[in-house]
Amino acid sequence: MFAQLNAQPKDKILALMGAFKADPRDTKVDLGVGVYKDASGHTPVMRSVKAAERRLVGEQTTKSYVNLAGDPAFGDAMVDLVLNGAVARERVAAAATPGGTGAIRQGLELIKLAAPDATVWVSDPTWPNHESIIKYLHMPMGKYRYFDEATRGVNFDGMLADLKNIKAGDAVLLHGCCHNPTGANLTADQMAQAIEVIKAQGGMPFVDIAYQGFGDGLDADGAATRAIASAFDNVLIAASCSKNFGVYRERTGILMAVAKDEAERDIAQQNLNYLNRQNYSFPPDHGARVVTMILTDPELRADWEAELEEIRIGMLGLRKQLASELRRLSNSDRFDFLAEHRGMFSRLGTSPENVEKLRADYGIYMAGDSRMNIAGLNEDTIPVLAKAIIDAGI
Ligand code: PMP
Repeated sequence: MFAQLNAQPKDKILALMGAFKADPRDTKVDLGVGVYKDASGHTPVMRSVKAAERRLVGEQTTKSYVNLAGDPAFGDAMVDLVLNGAVARERVAAAATPGGTGAIRQGLELIKLAAPDATVWVSDPTWPNHESIIKYLHMPMGKYRYFDEATRGVNFDGMLADLKNIKAGDAVLLHGCCHNPTGANLTADQMAQAIEVIKAQGGMPFVDIAYQGFGDGLDADGAATRAIASAFDNVLIAASCSKNFGVYRERTGILMAVAKDEAERDIAQQNLNYLNRQNYSFPPDHGARVVTMILTDPELRADWEAELEEIRIGMLGLRKQLASELRRLSNSDRFDFLAEHRGMFSRLGTSPENVEKLRADYGIYMAGDSRMNIAGLNEDTIPVLAKAIIDAGI
């Protein structure tokens, strides 16, 4: 049996992590893997998460099964966090999933159940796992232009032109905020235009929101998702708690299906439950319960929001410092885009050869497409990176 298996390609980011570990240079800088790190390179457990976990351990009296869709209180808290009343609660079906990845997988499977021939459109580029899962499910995939290599902003004209080619019933995957891997995002006005085009074409948006609170603030980062949700009869939303609650390994996420009305919501909910049952039965509960406790307890919530804001402001500060150091060294504004980008990532926009040069000559590790994890920087490494970028002739 196993002799018939093909070898699988190595995950590039995981391979990069291995290479970083093996590098003996003490000046090395890890801008590769997509987890938040503080100035000392540590990925901390958030204060509110620790407090909620302590309380949970003390109060929990059973570990028995919950529901196929997870704890309903988690659904309510997350719908509120992401949608904040943008659509009537009765229109939203929701199911807890193992992380945002689980939500994306279940959302794609829901599309496949409803419309097996629908094409799923993704931004070019997008998070590589989007493409990988779509291919794995043998679903038709299209790409819409997104990143402008020259400005390192969004190629909005290209994006709109490509969205005008989608067919009625197709799905369009959009990043709710903090685009991964580029860091370039649509303005509110551009999003409104994209919504109009997708609507006119009869497409259905599928929003992936994995970094709410990492860009312009918890509320501001939900604005695009809310605008999308309120503009269509049907929308899918995959939300991850991995980053904004720092609960990566707990696998905490949720898939929401915004339906036309309550009756359609009931059918959507049955299908979300069914898909959970087929794939893993009950979704993980620990992280979801911790998140629910934080979101519904005023004190824990205030502390969570404060710490999330510290993280966000810290990353913005790193962006500004890096952009200003590069402005000084290059005597130009050509790296100002780094301060305009939002979220944990920025695509530097250079060749794989230059990425390799930065690794080999300077011990700076970033993804092959020149995606940098801004949270991997600190005040000491910013000048090192800036100098390496200029010395390498980027
Ligand atoms: N979407 C995007 C764009 C991401 O970057 C990530 C995490 N890297 C996810 C979804 C899913 O994250 P997780 O499954 O860890 O919650």
